[in-house]
Amino acid sequence: MLDNGQLLPDRVSAPKTSPSFARLVDLQLIESDTGTLGVADAATHIGFPVLRTYFLTGVPNGKGRGGHAHKTMRQCFICLRGQVTIVVSRCAESLKFRLTDYSEALVVDPGCWRDLYDFSSDALLLVLASQPYTERDYIRDHTEFLEWELAESEASVPFIDLARQDSDLQSAVADAVHEVIRSGVYIGGPQVAEFEAQFAEYCGVAHAVGVGNGLEALALTLAGWGVGPGDEVIVPAHTFIATALAVDRVGAVPVLVDVEADTGLMDPALVQAAITPRTRAVIPVHLYGQPADIDGIREAIGGRDIKILEDAAQAHGAFYRSRRCGALGDAAAFSFYPTKNLGALGDGGAVVTDDPALAAAVRRLGNYGGLRKYEHQVIGGNSRLDPMQAAVLSAKLPSLDRMNARRAELASLYLANLADLHGLALPKTHAYAQPVWHVFAVRCEGRRDELFRFLAARNINANIHYPAAIHQQACYAGRWPGQSFPVAEMWARDVLSLPLDGAHTNAEILAVIEAVTDFLSIPQHA
Ligand SMILES: *Cc1c(COP(=O)(O)O)cnc(C)c1O
Repeated sequence: MLDNGQLLPDRVSAPKTSPSFARLVDLQLIESDTGTLGVADAATHIGFPVLRTYFLTGVPNGKGRGGHAHKTMRQCFICLRGQVTIVVSRCAESLKFRLTDYSEALVVDPGCWRDLYDFSSDALLLVLASQPYTERDYIRDHTEFLEWELAESEASVPFIDLARQDSDLQSAVADAVHEVIRSGVYIGGPQVAEFEAQFAEYCGVAHAVGVGNGLEALALTLAGWGVGPGDEVIVPAHTFIATALAVDRVGAVPVLVDVEADTGLMDPALVQAAITPRTRAVIPVHLYGQPADIDGIREAIGGRDIKILEDAAQAHGAFYRSRRCGALGDAAAFSFYPTKNLGALGDGGAVVTDDPALAAAVRRLGNYGGLRKYEHQVIGGNSRLDPMQAAVLSAKLPSLDRMNARRAELASLYLANLADLHGLALPKTHAYAQPVWHVFAVRCEGRRDELFRFLAARNINANIHYPAAIHQQACYAGRWPGQSFPVAEMWARDVLSLPLDGAHTNAEILAVIEAVTDFLSIPQHA
């Protein structure tokens, strides 16, 4: 909460009790002959950004305030004067704390019942809270709390919970947002340039250009190469719709190719067969965080003047041999949609490339066709990464490898425990790849929808990426007459994404494994 370098705490206070749902932390006290300065820092002491502060005083001697629980609010209690007793309980465990001075604070996790009582008549209790007041967050009846707690404890595995995913980054992200608010610059500015430089370095390329979203990153790159009407661009039939839409956006023709049965990735042999004199680019998709076979695709292209545009929207940080996805083709498009491995707090995207001319072209096209105000060299549009998102992404980028490593840990848990099940195809990884597990996609032939419902009944939220191949989408009806993409259709029919995200606990993944195992042991009706 203090920016002044002199006042930064000289050590991080260790919790006095073992890490638990309620714990005492030492505050920083700076004493001098002009008095005492007490510091409770969000990052080092409290562990959450403070959005509301209130205090209790004038409670009659020996009295209390009545018990209650908060479902999602985190709180920090500091007794500035006098004394008070706080009992915090969760899952039949109670912890009792007597706060007697301001040298330490009591930090309480969400989902706990608390009783505040035995106030001394002079007590002044300061409360720092992680969220604004909302009555929905309160449970004031103890029986109701016990029922709520029971319902919460019954396994419920979210597919993804962004609030939870970011919990250890929340302070850094909030600080970044506040810095942008204070800066007064809300388009362009140093935060965008900083993130672009950081992300380019992370990917191992010379340039990154922030744009509005992943679809724009794809389309602006094609436009930057001058791909347009009369040109063909090869895309896989099994991908998110944006890969194909980007080609339509520039007026070119998406040419679909089927995918590898084992991985769902673009099949280089089919790319070779799809090349015509009009082919200007190929867009391999690193689907599910698994790198596509770039060397194979490059070989298929041979010496022709055909660009490779990686759709890296699901592969931030993945490695193909010793290089990152994003550094493999002539350019790569990233999305920072909130659920991606590196996600913003809204839409965002980037084009990365070693080609300075393409980087400048993309920047121009996304900035009204010019690099300077009121100078418009080409017919451009408006597609920029805003500094708020750039600052958030810069705050999160240092944790990307750690979050990806956690995803890999959870993926290994699935792979080890689901390996021998009949009726389930597990994701395959090429020997050249170090994937980032954007999605853990299994296939359950003929029973996918049944498995989805079975998991839902156990409060496990699976997902489907994607329920239809590109040519099966209504918007593309009739576009590829007489062509078939049976492997892509097989994926659309059988694929199921199991919950896997950096914030999942091992216990949650084990609950999913148990449920999938139970499902597959149910005999199938003939
Ligand atoms: C998310 C995604 C996109 C599009 O990104 P947006 O930022 O949502 O426009 C493109 N391709 C793939 C493979 C994606 O997963």
